[in-house]
Amino acid sequence: MIKECQACGQTHLLAATTASNGGYGPNLLPGTGSWRPARFEVVVCGKCGYVHWFVQKEDLDKVKRSKHFRPYRPS
Ligand SMILES: [Zn+2]
Repeated sequence: MIKECQACGQTHLLAATTASNGGYGPNLLPGTGSWRPARFEVVVCGKCGYVHWFVQKEDLDKVKRSKHFRPYRPS
């Protein structure tokens, strides 16, 4: 992952693991399972507040297997 903030370069980072969907919210990682969908590792810079979003390492294969995700091709 990261060792410093991608916006300001500070190393005071705070991390939490959170779900990628909720009962009333959007499903941000579709197709990764309804019982235990892929989770995010959210890293917030304690200096500037910039948020870095990662899929949890152990859940990355769920995203790769999801038929909702395709190779990104910038237009
Ligand atoms: Zn920062």
